[in-house]
Amino acid sequence: MNTNMEKLIIPRAEHSISRSLLSPNGVKVLYKLREHGFIAYLVGGGVRDLLLGREPKDFDVVTDATPNQLKKLFRNCRLIGRRFRLAHIHFHDEIIEVATFRSTVDAAEAAAEGAPEALPEEPAEAPAEAEQLEEERDGRRRRRLHHGPPILKSEDGMVLRDNVFGTPEEDAIRRDFTVNALFYNIADFSIIDHVGGMEDLKNGLIRTIGDPMVRFTEDPVRMIRAIRFASMLGFNIEPRTEAAIEALCGTINKATPPRLYEEVLKLLLMGAGERTYQMMRHNGLFEPLFPHFDAWLSRESDCYPHVRVSKALEWVDEQLGQGNPVTPSLLIALMFGEYLEEKVAQFRDGGLPPQQATDAAVAAFAGELAPTVSVPNRAIVAVRDILNMQQRFQKTPGRNGRGVVARPAFHDALQYLRFMEQLTPPKRSLADWWERFAAQQSEGVVEAAPEPRGEAAAGEAAKKKRRRRRRRKKPGAAPE
Ligand code: ATP
Ligand code: MG
Repeated sequence: MNTNMEKLIIPRAEHSISRSLLSPNGVKVLYKLREHGFIAYLVGGGVRDLLLGREPKDFDVVTDATPNQLKKLFRNCRLIGRRFRLAHIHFHDEIIEVATFRSTVDAAEAAAEGAPEALPEEPAEAPAEAEQLEEERDGRRRRRLHHGPPILKSEDGMVLRDNVFGTPEEDAIRRDFTVNALFYNIADFSIIDHVGGMEDLKNGLIRTIGDPMVRFTEDPVRMIRAIRFASMLGFNIEPRTEAAIEALCGTINKATPPRLYEEVLKLLLMGAGERTYQMMRHNGLFEPLFPHFDAWLSRESDCYPHVRVSKALEWVDEQLGQGNPVTPSLLIALMFGEYLEEKVAQFRDGGLPPQQATDAAVAAFAGELAPTVSVPNRAIVAVRDILNMQQRFQKTPGRNGRGVVARPAFHDALQYLRFMEQLTPPKRSLADWWERFAAQQSEGVVEAAPEPRGEAAAGEAAKKKRRRRRRRKKPGAAPE
C-alpha cells in the first residue's frame, strides 16, 4: 500500500464542498460527534460525488468513536452486523451510516452482512445491555474471533477476517480507490487526502489504493467496483489497475454468488448498463460471471452478432434516465431474453408445450448461473412470468384478461413487450392495447368505489358493469 504518500489538507477555500450541500442529518451527526470530542469525517461516495458536482446517493461518516460510544451518544442509533458493529443513525427519512476507523475491510464478512462498509469490530469496552443478549447468542463465534489473529488471510491472499480499529490514515488506505478515500473534516471544513485522491479526481482516474494485484486478491469484488465507478463517472481506469483486472478477472468467482448478484445488479442498474457491459466483456470480467451466456454471445458474433443484449441494456438505461425504475427481474428477462428464447425453442423442439418449455428454460438458466451469480428464487419466478406472459399477451383477453392484468409481473411483462415492439415495431401495438385494457380495469374499480350502498354492493355493481362490458366485446377485439 502507498503508506509513504504525503497527507494533503485542502482548506475550505480551495474546494467546492459547502455544508449546504450535505444532508442536514449528516451534518447533525458530524457536529454531535465533534461536540463530544470525537473526530468526525464524511467519507466515500458522498465526498467524491459532491466534489464532482453530482448528487450523492448516501452520506457515510467515519469517526474514532467506537460503536458502543455511538450507541450511547445517539438515541436513534442501531448497531448492525452480527459479528462486527456498524452504526446506523435513523432519521425520519434517512439513515446515516457511521463506521469506526479501521485498518482493513473484511470483504467476506461485509458481504455476508450485505453491507460493504460493515466493520469487523472488537468491542473496546463492555457491551451495552441491549447487545449482551445478542452476543451471548452469538457467543461461540465471537469467542473464536476474540482469540484469533487480528487479520486473517487465506492461503491465496484473500482477506477473511480483520477486527482491528485503525487510525484515520489506515482507514483511508484500506479503502478501494483513491477517489473513494477522501475525508471531509467537519472541524475545519477541509478535505484530508491521504492517498492522492484529489489529483485522480481532477484527472478522471480510478486508481486502486496500493498494489492492485494485492487489493484485488484480497477482495475480487473491487474489480467490479472499478468498472462501476469508471462507468458511472465517465472516468478512465488507471493502467496498473486495468492490467490487474485483466490478470485477475478469472478469480472474480472467489466472491460468493449472492454478493456477485448484488454487485452485478448495481452495475447494470445505475443508468450506464450498456457501457458497463461493453467494458466487462472487453476486460474479461464478463466471461467468468456468465460463462454459458458469454460462450453463446461469442459463438455467433462472427456472422450474426447478438445485438439484442446491447439494445436491451440501452433501453434499460433510457428508462432509468427518465426516472422509470427497472426491477431486477425485468433487467434479467431483457438482458438474457434472446438467449432464453432460444432455450425455450429447444425445449419446445423436445416436445414440451409452450408454458412448460419456458419453465424448463428458465430453470435451466438459473441452474447455469447459480455457481457464479445466484439470482434469488423470487426473481427467477418473476422472469418466468414475464416470459410466459408474452405468449399470453398475443391472445384476445377473453375471459381471463383481468387475471392477466392482476398478475404481479404484469407491469414488467408489459415493459418487456414494449421493448420488443421498439425492436420490431408492429402495425398495431399490442402493448398499447394491454395498457388501455389495464387502465379500463382499474377505472372500473374506481368507478365502483364511491357507490353509496356500501362496499359489498358497490363491489357487486362493479362486477356487473365489467361483465356487461365484456359481453359487448366481440371476440378477437385485440389487435392482430
Ligand atoms: P455509491 O455512490 O455507489 O454508494 P460509494 O463509493 O459510496 O459509491 P459504497 O459501496 O457505498 O460506495 O461504499 C462506501 C465506501 O466504502 C467506498 O467509497 C469505499 O471507500 C469503501 N468500500 C466499499 N466497498 C469496499 C471494498 N470492497 N473494499 C474497500 N473499500 C470499500
Ligand atoms: Mg455509498
